[in-house]
Amino acid sequence: MLVLHDPATLKHQIVELLDCKPIPAYESPTRIEVLVAAIQASVPQHSLRTIVSSFTSASLNSSSLAPAPSSGDLLGRFLSETHDKDYLRHLSHIFDDIIRAQIDVDGSSELSAAEAEAEYERIKATEFSEFVVLPETFRPPMRTRNGLNTGALEQNVRAPKDIFGRHGFYTYDMATGVGKDTWAAACASAHLAVVGAELIVPKAKVPGVSREDSHKNVFAMCRPPGHHCTTDMAGGYCYLNNAVVAIQALRYHHAAQRLQQQEIDEQPAHPRITVLDLDFHHGNGTQAAFYEDPTVLYISIHGEGEYPYYTGYPEETGTGLGAGFNINLPLAMATADEYLDKLQVAVDHMKAYKPEYIVVSLGFDTFRGDPLGNFMIDTPDYERIARKVREEELLSGTPSLILLEGGYMVEKLGVNLLSFLKGWEGLA
Ligand SMILES: [Zn+2]
Repeated sequence: MLVLHDPATLKHQIVELLDCKPIPAYESPTRIEVLVAAIQASVPQHSLRTIVSSFTSASLNSSSLAPAPSSGDLLGRFLSETHDKDYLRHLSHIFDDIIRAQIDVDGSSELSAAEAEAEYERIKATEFSEFVVLPETFRPPMRTRNGLNTGALEQNVRAPKDIFGRHGFYTYDMATGVGKDTWAAACASAHLAVVGAELIVPKAKVPGVSREDSHKNVFAMCRPPGHHCTTDMAGGYCYLNNAVVAIQALRYHHAAQRLQQQEIDEQPAHPRITVLDLDFHHGNGTQAAFYEDPTVLYISIHGEGEYPYYTGYPEETGTGLGAGFNINLPLAMATADEYLDKLQVAVDHMKAYKPEYIVVSLGFDTFRGDPLGNFMIDTPDYERIARKVREEELLSGTPSLILLEGGYMVEKLGVNLLSFLKGWEGLA
C-alpha cells in the first residue's frame, strides 16, 4: 500500500490536563516515528512517500484561507469548505498572539522592545516550546431560569476579543492546546488527507498521459488526528477534520475527472462515500459534518459512554435528507469476536449503500491495554477486521483512503498497522 507521511506532522507537541494533572499529551510525535519505521521495514509490501506541504508557511497569512483553486494548492479551499473561517484564523494566530502578549513585545514590560523580540525569537526557535495555549474558560450555556435556550441570549455569544479568553470559545476540552507548531502540523496532516484523496480517484483516460499515479488504496499518516474536530471547535487532540477535508477533496477531484472524461458537461452530483470510523472514540466532528447529507454514510464502532461522552448514541441516525445515513454502533468492553459481530452490521450497511469511495478513520486505541480505551483487540485481530470489510465482493474494489486517528500504546502501533494493512490489501 502507498503510505503518505509528512515530517512536519512530528513538530506538534503539547501537554494536556488528564485526571486533573498536566502531562505530556498521549498523542505524541513518537507515534508517527514508530509507524514510519514499521513501514520502512516492510518495503516492498508497502511504500512510504514523503510529502512536504507548501501550504503551512503561506497559510499564516489569513488571506490565503480564501478559496483559491488556481493557486495550485487546494488545501485552503477544502479547509474553508470544512471549517469556519474565524476558527481557522484563530488557530493560525493564537499561539503567536499569546506569546507576544505574555512577553509584552509591544514594550510596556520591563524588557526593552529589543529584549522582548529576542525572547519571542528564542521561544519560536526552541525545538518544543514550553508554552501551550489551553482554554481558560468554555462557552457557557445560555439558558433562562426556566431552562429554555433563548435566542436573545445566544445571539450574543461570540469569540471574545480578549486573547486569553478566546481559545475556550474554539475548543471543548483540555487535551487540545495549541503549541508553536500546532497549526503547521495540523495543516500538514490535512494536506496528507487531500493528497491521498486525489490519488485514489480513478483517473480519466487521457491519450498520452500516464495513469501511474493512481492507487486503489492509500494510507495517510495523519497527525494530529481529525475526527473529533467540528466546524469551529478543536477537541480530542483534533484541530482540523482530516476526514471531512478529504471528502471535500474527493468530491472535487471526482467531479474534475468526470468532466475531463466528458461523461457529463455540468457539475456532477457528489459521489457516495462511506466513512468507516474504527477509532475507539466516536467521531463526533465527522458525524456532525454530514448529519444532513445522504451522500456520506457515516458508520462508527466505538466505546459506549466514552470520550467525547455526549455523542455516539444509536439513536443518532441523521436528519433531513441525511436521515438513515448515520449509524452508531457503540460497544462496551469488546472482545475481538464481539467487535467483529458489530463490524458485520457495519459491512451490511455499506453493501446496501454501495459507496464509490471508502474513507476509514483508523484508530489503534481499540488495542488491548491502550491507555485511552478498554477494548480487547489483539494484533492479529486487525487483519481479521480489515479482511471482513475488504473480502466483501461489493466492497473489495472500492477505492479507499485510510486516515490515521488515535492509538496510544506506542510500542504496538507498528505491528498493529502492518496487521491491518495486510488484511486490507488481501496480502498472503
Ligand atoms: Zn480515539
